[in-house]
Amino acid sequence: MGACGAVCHNAVVIPAPSRHARPVLQPRSDGQFTHAAKPTTAVVIGGGLAGLSAAVVLAERGVRVTVLEREHFLGGRVGAWTDRLQDGTAFDMERGFHAFFRQYYNLRQLLKRVDPGLGFLKPTDDYPILTPTGNESFAGLTHAPLVNVAKLTWRTETLRIRDLMKVNVPAALAMLRFDFERTYAAFDQVTAGEYLDSLNFPPVARQRLLHVFAHSCFNPQADMSAAALLQMLHFYFTANHDGLVFDVADRPFSRGIFQPLAALLDRLGAVVRTGTGARSLERREAGWAVETDREPLSADLVVLATDVPGIRAVVDASRGLADPAWQERIASLRVTNAFAVWRLWLDRPVTAGRAGFAGTAGVGPLDNISVYENLEDESRDWAVRTGGSVVELHAYALPAGCDEAALKHQLLDGLRVLYPETVGAALIEERFLLRQDCPAFAPGSDALRPEVRTPFRGLALAGDFVRLPFPSALMERATAAGMLAANTLLAELGVAPEPLWSVAVRGPLAPRS
Ligand SMILES: Cc1cc2nc3c(=O)[nH]c(=O)nc-3n(C[C@H](O)[C@H](O)[C@H](O)COP(=O)(O)OP(=O)(O)OC[C@H]3O[C@@H](n4cnc5c(N)ncnc54)[C@H](O)[C@@H]3O)c2cc1C
Repeated sequence: MGACGAVCHNAVVIPAPSRHARPVLQPRSDGQFTHAAKPTTAVVIGGGLAGLSAAVVLAERGVRVTVLEREHFLGGRVGAWTDRLQDGTAFDMERGFHAFFRQYYNLRQLLKRVDPGLGFLKPTDDYPILTPTGNESFAGLTHAPLVNVAKLTWRTETLRIRDLMKVNVPAALAMLRFDFERTYAAFDQVTAGEYLDSLNFPPVARQRLLHVFAHSCFNPQADMSAAALLQMLHFYFTANHDGLVFDVADRPFSRGIFQPLAALLDRLGAVVRTGTGARSLERREAGWAVETDREPLSADLVVLATDVPGIRAVVDASRGLADPAWQERIASLRVTNAFAVWRLWLDRPVTAGRAGFAGTAGVGPLDNISVYENLEDESRDWAVRTGGSVVELHAYALPAGCDEAALKHQLLDGLRVLYPETVGAALIEERFLLRQDCPAFAPGSDALRPEVRTPFRGLALAGDFVRLPFPSALMERATAAGMLAANTLLAELGVAPEPLWSVAVRGPLAPRS
């Protein structure tokens, strides 16, 4: 590690992405090759952030990469595809609004390769939480997490002095004492719901300050590990010195991220095949055979960067991956409950000044509201042209067998309560997605959670479901896992890794021994 948090590889100083970013998993020596010494090929299975991060890192180091993506678009859960409104307007529909937090250091390093100033990201000035009985705001917080905790506690009307006296201090301190080994040993068998109950917050404070955050992990509190929740609280809140507000994309992710990344891969000599699923792998004496929906491929290296259903299907169908302990890890992976994304084109505007994105609580299954004309250029043009509004509603951790019509009814009710100007608005158009492909972080799941490294030479895993040895979540976890998968394979070739970054690995009050 060099001055100002920079790292040094092969005498090249790589500046830290933020003065708060900490380098993680740095190799002991930097005297390695910058490029693969002999011609090397890799197949990356999955064109989400995990797969594309791995592909970019490998291709930059001279590996000839082929990316296989089952869908006709890149990006996976952040993906976007072209659709058309009835009036003929083309638009890019996405798998849903995404927030780009400032401590997503590895994701930002990836995106800076195609947009050095990150010009497609625009800062928000608040992260409001709206409820029928009052709102919370994350505006005006500092870069010092402990000061933020005190500030939020002081200004929320949901916590009075008498409530604070009742808070379970040792349980609350677990947020500041995060340490992978100790926290997972103590809390992985506990549910997130049990942990949040144990804090003894008044119900309204619990709902406004904690429920919204917990639900953003897509897992229901009753079936999520408290250790996984504490890891996320540490990553987003108590160890994050880059602020609680986030950036948003000012254009669809297709234009902002995935077309530029595909062009970068092309310039690096990589081949991206969309609409091509991988079916199975077979270990060969040297390297791998990959069976696909089209012609078979062979490669020296493979990164398996699908979602959870994808990895289970590919591993089940593969030959030569006979390591019972590892297969048990793969078989232990689950998806969590379904989520819904409902985009509405309304015939009238929402009130001026509505937040581009707002978390919600106390309005049934509705988890957040995005006003797309306040975010993206495409929706802004439509709203200006028609005088309408493009609103997106999300609902996470839905119960099994959820009925679409009933859910839509509840989501619309929630919107009308919080944004009463939408009462009576006509739906000009709508797009509704109900999906179930986010990973589960169930109580007790950490022991078997697979890591990037596999028992097989030349094969690594990536995705937001893998276990990482440093704090991370969601898009940042996918990107960091992809880069780590590439580094793991590059290490076998003696090639210098991509520097990786995170917030502090341990909480500010974590015991030192
Ligand atoms: C509604 C919603 C909102 C979200 N909001 C946020 C947010 O605000 N901030 C945030 O950080 N994160 C957010 N996330 C989470 C984020 O989208 C994911 O963590 C991240 O995109 C995961 O990336 P990945 O590459 O691990 O997986 P994926 O994006 O799922 O990519 C896996 C890819 O593999 C492909 N695949 C599967 N099987 C095969 C096969 N056999 N062959 C070839 N390809 C295959 C899939 O089609 C997919 O493209 C949100 C997710 C959702 C669903």
